[in-house]
Amino acid sequence: MVKIVLDAGHGGRDPGAVGNGLREKDVTLTIVTKIGEMLKEYERVDVHYTRTDDQFIELSERAAMANRIGADFFLSVHVNAGGGTGFESYIFNGNVSKETVSYQNIIHDEVMKAIGDVRDRGKKRASYAVLRQTNMPALLTENLFIDNAGDAAKLKSDEFLSQIARGHVEGMAKAFGLQKKPPAPPKDDGKLYRVQVGAFRDKKNAERLVEELRKKGYDAIIV
Ligand SMILES: [Zn+2]
Repeated sequence: MVKIVLDAGHGGRDPGAVGNGLREKDVTLTIVTKIGEMLKEYERVDVHYTRTDDQFIELSERAAMANRIGADFFLSVHVNAGGGTGFESYIFNGNVSKETVSYQNIIHDEVMKAIGDVRDRGKKRASYAVLRQTNMPALLTENLFIDNAGDAAKLKSDEFLSQIARGHVEGMAKAFGLQKKPPAPPKDDGKLYRVQVGAFRDKKNAERLVEELRKKGYDAIIV
């Protein structure tokens, strides 16, 4: 089992960045919810959330949650602000494992692939609390700029938020070697579908075939 903690940035009395009629805390929760849903397509993944609704949680508590459950990976989703455009990702700027660096490379690239024509601001490092205080590999993504009209227009599209989520999911699937669940078997619709397998002039031959088919567990009759 790969234990993943999904962290929707901000929440409750902390709206995060605000602009163009959007609040960061809402956008991050939407993206994280989509990521969690999409991860259900995969086997052997155990998804946890720091929040699933609009509530305030301290940064250190977010990290502590992940540490308490012994998570394998911590993903914090944010939206940028401050004049700019595009996507960037962060890992801790202190000592990090080589897995952390590799996960950033893989997930960053998959997000860029999934979101199309968006500026790649690069793979960065910083001393953000959730990156510093988590004991496991941790990544924080800044998904476009809420105060940039063009970026905000994209962030208002549910389809675009799905693309962002899909990129993160493809990245984690690659990073952790997650396998897709087999497709669900088709439901029995109560109908019978007949297959005719042969016609014989000699009844004995017909009876022999019926016998053979029944031995193999098929339903067979002579008509
Ligand atoms: Zn933020």
